[in-house]
Amino acid sequence: MTEKQLKDSQMQVIKEMARSWTAAVQEMLERWYQMARGGLVRLSDAVGEMRAILGEWPERVYATVAGLIDRMFSDSYRDGASAAEVEAWGMGPSEGQALAWMKNSPNGLVPALRDLTRGVQRRIERGLSRMGSVIPVSSALRLAMDVASRVVSRPELIVRTESAKARALGRIYAWGHDRYRDRYHYWWIAMDDDRTKDVSLLFERAGPYAWQQIRHLWEFEHDQPQLVRNRHTRGMEMQVSAWNCRCTVARTPRGAVAV
Ligand SMILES: [Zn+2]
Repeated sequence: MTEKQLKDSQMQVIKEMARSWTAAVQEMLERWYQMARGGLVRLSDAVGEMRAILGEWPERVYATVAGLIDRMFSDSYRDGASAAEVEAWGMGPSEGQALAWMKNSPNGLVPALRDLTRGVQRRIERGLSRMGSVIPVSSALRLAMDVASRVVSRPELIVRTESAKARALGRIYAWGHDRYRDRYHYWWIAMDDDRTKDVSLLFERAGPYAWQQIRHLWEFEHDQPQLVRNRHTRGMEMQVSAWNCRCTVARTPRGAVAV
């Protein structure tokens, strides 16, 4: 697995998603145009069509590019495994299961796409409502194109996030095949900036971990809502680290200077 192959398989998914997104928006605009009478469209009709078309986009795009998505996940996983620099090995049944689980996780690809489309729908709906209950179709089209084009890079971010998660999983499993795996400390690494979730920082602080622990954390706890104190608002709230995740994992020999 070369870096280029991995980038290519990510790129294919990203391109297909962008193409599919543009097509869905186009379809919605055409429906609005067809519904218009005398250059005017009713707010309720426009919103109804939008919900129908954009609402089903996440499932539709997932079905269309399922094969590419599968490949991107396993390429990412294998890339992570080879980066772990443990001797060559194949993907066993438990690895396959873990990967499938991650792909379909409640905080994975499709839910992220659903969240994206809901955000777009809300913004369009709000914009349209301000124009009244009967709207010039040309203004509606301009608004929708403007909102939809601003999020065109979001599927890319989502794909890269999910690919990085699979890549870390590949590393964890590869470490599991290392007969010296218990000679290492395993670390959860959260991104170090203002946007980092408190739950991810919590996982990081609680380290180092044994291999079994980091695996369990990455595969299961990662997706579970955890009650944490939000360091910005000071309030307690539920957070899920896997949602828009930017975490990764590392290991260091036990007895080495702490990182
Ligand atoms: Zn995370």
